[in-house]
Amino acid sequence: MINVTQFVKPDSLPSALEELNREGSIALAGGTSLSLSKSKKYTKVVNLSNLTELKKIETKNNRLEIGAMVSMTQLAEVEDSPFPILRKTASSIYSTAIRNMTTVGGEIAKGVYWVDLPVTLLALDTQVLLQNSSSSRTVALSEIYNSHPSKFINSNELITKIFIPLQKSTSSFHKFTKTQVDYVLASAAGKAVKDGNIIKQINLSIGGVTPLPCLLPQVSSQLVGKKITDEIIEEVSTECCKEIKFKPDFRASTEYQKSLIKVMISRVLQDLQS
Ligand SMILES: Cc1cc2nc3c(=O)[nH]c(=O)nc-3n(C[C@H](O)[C@H](O)[C@H](O)COP(=O)(O)OP(=O)(O)OC[C@H]3O[C@@H](n4cnc5c(N)ncnc54)[C@H](O)[C@@H]3O)c2cc1C
Repeated sequence: MINVTQFVKPDSLPSALEELNREGSIALAGGTSLSLSKSKKYTKVVNLSNLTELKKIETKNNRLEIGAMVSMTQLAEVEDSPFPILRKTASSIYSTAIRNMTTVGGEIAKGVYWVDLPVTLLALDTQVLLQNSSSSRTVALSEIYNSHPSKFINSNELITKIFIPLQKSTSSFHKFTKTQVDYVLASAAGKAVKDGNIIKQINLSIGGVTPLPCLLPQVSSQLVGKKITDEIIEEVSTECCKEIKFKPDFRASTEYQKSLIKVMISRVLQDLQS
């Protein structure tokens, strides 16, 4: 950030979007990643911390709406959340200081293998509202992650809100790290809509072992119309590794990553059984 000569802190979303229209501008959310950047591309930082309208969590139009500037601490502290896995995922991020600063928008826009929240958001069918000063578009998070946030989100656009459909479902998130402070080695999340014991719709997602968190559409579709049994859990947790393009990780061999994913997916499916 050594070429930055301007630091602005707009009080409203329209002014922030206007500021981002100027070349060389970049949005600053929690700053946990951006403050470490050595990029020389940027000349102006647009601090979003005054945008109170982006710090709300609301239930509207049969969906949960979460502002992009909601911190992990805020998410972890929501009482009676319709999605307890949001609390679990946010509180799994170490440490308190990082949780206080890291925002929903930053977690999505950062686009690295170790982000935890997007694993859960993918499983929950999250939609993302992207806005610039003259237009807006709502896209599935999976679409952004099938590309890469740095390619998909234009430099004058902000993630302003995310939407999670409210439906009767069961969901689960599990994560493995070598120590409490380490980045994730492997994680998995799932959401199932069931009719009795039978799966009507299911999303399984993973993180840590691929360049970005991703959904597992093939194994998920194989589960539709079935009851989750111990045999199915064994089959799916083994089968899912065929769908994953594992990234190299100096901390773990591919065989170890596969074993971890198998355990994470099994734990998620066990939770979705009940
Ligand atoms: C030591 C350490 C450990 C961490 N461990 C974990 C962990 O275990 N799990 C985990 O999930 N995260 C972890 N994080 C956080 C994670 O790595 C990122 O730093 C974080 O997600 C970035 O969020 P932020 O709000 O701080 O964004 P910033 O650092 O402010 O911004 C990051 C990028 O996102 C862009 N951006 C931010 N908000 C928006 C928006 N609304 N619209 C468009 N673009 C936007 C910025 O322009 C910038 O390019 C850790 C961070 C640190 C420093």
